Amino acid sequence: MSAINTSLSSTQSTSNNQWVLASNNKGKLSEFKRLFAEANLDVTIIPQGQLDIEDAVEDGLSFVENAIIKARHASRISGLPAIADDSGLCVPVLGNAPGIYSARYAGEHGNDSKNNSKLITDLQSMRSEQPIKGMFVCVLAMVRHADDSLPIIAQGLWQGEILEAPQGESGFGYDPLFWLPDLQATAASLSASDKNRISHRGQAIQQLLAQLPL
Ligand code: IMP
Repeated sequence: MSAINTSLSSTQSTSNNQWVLASNNKGKLSEFKRLFAEANLDVTIIPQGQLDIEDAVEDGLSFVENAIIKARHASRISGLPAIADDSGLCVPVLGNAPGIYSARYAGEHGNDSKNNSKLITDLQSMRSEQPIKGMFVCVLAMVRHADDSLPIIAQGLWQGEILEAPQGESGFGYDPLFWLPDLQATAASLSASDKNRISHRGQAIQQLLAQLPL
């Protein structure tokens, strides 16, 4: 993802017009590219990979802790304001697993196909007539500087059901198993813009934007 220059808006001025986006996840970056382009902010968003910033060690116990850890890490190294996304899939019958460990559920960081297979296996013995509920969670944390004592926090939740087999070719992560009964489609069957309009990440970014200017 290249840096995004969004157009000027007189109502949304910030003290620094470059922010680092603290993620190296290609699926997230492509969704953010669209979301920020539509946001009309007076800001250039720079993915941390372009500054050679590696992923932070995510040792928090919650989405919000990990989002703050990632944002501080990117801000400390770059000297710029930073925004981070910590997200995942929570399945109540699994005690909300994979949750904050969604990216490494099957052991190997970011292996979507192994993570999906493990989820299917783990849910096999729990299947009944009733669908298995799940929800995607996205917490965004924005820090103005690495030691910011008042990070801006936004959270989006997206409810759905977990299928027994993948469907759809778009998106990333657990999208092919995430069934939306109202739409009769998985998240991986939606267009990128339709997903962003209703997803956990789309909701969280709207909430974050509503808290600007900083
Ligand atoms: P993080 O990078 O530590 O926040 O982990 C995010 C992980 O959660 C991803 O690797 C996916 O497995 C999962 N995830 C988060 N958002 C989505 C989404 O929009 N669709 C599918 N999977 C997602």
